[in-house]
Amino acid sequence: MIVTTKELFKHAYGKYAVGAYNINNLEQTVGLFRGDLGKVKTNEEAANAATSAPFIVQISRGARGYSDKRFLESMIRTADEIFPEVIFAVHLDHGTEEVCYDCIDSGFYSSVMIDASHEPFPKNIEITRRVVERAHAKGIVVEAELGQLGGVEEDVVGSVCLTEPAQAAEFVEKSGCDSLAVAIGTSHGAYKFTGGQGIRLDRLKEIQSALPKGFPLVMHGSSSVPKEWVDRINNAGGQLKSASGVDEAQYLQAAKLGVCKINIDTDGRLVWCAIHREAFRDDPSNFDLRPPGKVFMAAYASYIIHKNGKLGSAGQLESVRSSLKGGSGGCRCCCGH
Ligand SMILES: [Zn+2]
Repeated sequence: MIVTTKELFKHAYGKYAVGAYNINNLEQTVGLFRGDLGKVKTNEEAANAATSAPFIVQISRGARGYSDKRFLESMIRTADEIFPEVIFAVHLDHGTEEVCYDCIDSGFYSSVMIDASHEPFPKNIEITRRVVERAHAKGIVVEAELGQLGGVEEDVVGSVCLTEPAQAAEFVEKSGCDSLAVAIGTSHGAYKFTGGQGIRLDRLKEIQSALPKGFPLVMHGSSSVPKEWVDRINNAGGQLKSASGVDEAQYLQAAKLGVCKINIDTDGRLVWCAIHREAFRDDPSNFDLRPPGKVFMAAYASYIIHKNGKLGSAGQLESVRSSLKGGSGGCRCCCGH
């Protein structure tokens, strides 16, 4: 069932964070949906209530252009049929104004991100406000961004500039956005924290205090870049030197300070890379794409289960389902009814 992020955040606020996972292809989609129901090897396994989690499927502009956005949309629709127990939001990651309107008009996305964080403050408000008006008219929610993350995500190149708490409060009030991505020290890609610093929880706390009570915050660039996976890649011929990410112990600390959505993209790529490098190293005569694909889907599902455990979303699915029945009933409107 597709819901808005607003409904997911209401349940999560202050307790845990919902994982927002980027997908690009079929194998990632299958692994993601299985993992969010606690299944690993096959689609037919029984769901595991102790590890089942609500989640967000993210589609970036790059993913939409990889082949054709309609492939991604139809894969997600099909996954929703194959795994009828799931509860998730479909979210556009790092949209421009134009792409946001395309997603809003498509009737498929339940949430869009307008990223005008590279624009001057008043212009960021103005653009976000326009997207909010178009989205809310259709019951779709909007994530905006204030501040600049470091690192590289597709064509978003940022130099670090932490979000200012007072500006965040003004931005939320004037733009009308439903959630806000903040720059608190994380960066995109596999080489975060080259200086060894972690998430700025002190800044996060100041931002949370400046905003209206219960307002959901979002953390981008939050892959943990696990050493285990980087080592596996390097042991199978890869060359990822000194890659590092967010300490997974900080996810729940951030969630307690109002972070409701944590974006994970790089980690999924690392799992993909390690599994395929190992498969071709260990079976050099194989040229069939399905054997490594099968191993990857299971490995990615296991990784999602692990990640949801760290985010605190594992085991929350049934509670989310009851809250939807009792409260907003799965209504996709942003009116709160
Ligand atoms: Zn991002």
